[in-house]
Amino acid sequence: MKTICDWENCNEIGNYKAPIEKDNSRKFRLLCLEHIKIFNKKWNYFSNMNDQEVEYFIKSDLTWHKPTKVFGSSENFFRILWDNALEDKLNIFQSANYKEYKKSKLSSKDRDALEILELKYDVKWEEIHKKFKILVKKYHPDKNFGSKQHEDKLKKITLAYSQLKMTMGKEK
Ligand SMILES: [Zn+2]
Repeated sequence: MKTICDWENCNEIGNYKAPIEKDNSRKFRLLCLEHIKIFNKKWNYFSNMNDQEVEYFIKSDLTWHKPTKVFGSSENFFRILWDNALEDKLNIFQSANYKEYKKSKLSSKDRDALEILELKYDVKWEEIHKKFKILVKKYHPDKNFGSKQHEDKLKKITLAYSQLKMTMGKEK
C-alpha cells in the first residue's frame, strides 16, 4: 500500500519521512519529494538556532499573536512559522523582549507557569498573586456549573501558582 503525502491538498506518493517534533525524531509523517524539500528548508532554519532561541521564537508574541494567522493544520503551522521566521529574522533576536528573556533566570518550568497564568516573564510576585486570585474566581467550579474543562484549567493554574510560589514567593 502506498502512502499519500501528508501535506495539505497534496496527492503525490509520500516516500520521505519528516519529523513532527524537533526533539522527537521517532514521530514522523510521510511527504512527497517536493514537500520534503520545503519541509527541510524550514527545519534547517531552526537547526541554526540554539535551544533557547528556538524556545523563544516559538513562544514569542511575534510568532503567535500576529493577527489574521490561523493554525488550521500542522502544515499550516509550519508555513506560518516559516513566514514569520523570514519576516522576523533580522528583528526578533534584537528585540528588547528577547534580551529580557535571555536575562531572566527563570527555569522553563517557571516560564511555563507564567504562561499558564497569562503573565509576562518579568512580572513581580505581587502581580502573580493578584492574577492567581482573579483566575481562581474565573475558573472556580461553583461559577461554571462543575464544568470539567474549567476544573482542569483551575488545576493547571493552581499548579502553576504553586510552582512560582516556590521560586519567586520567597524573594518577597
Ligand atoms: Zn506532497
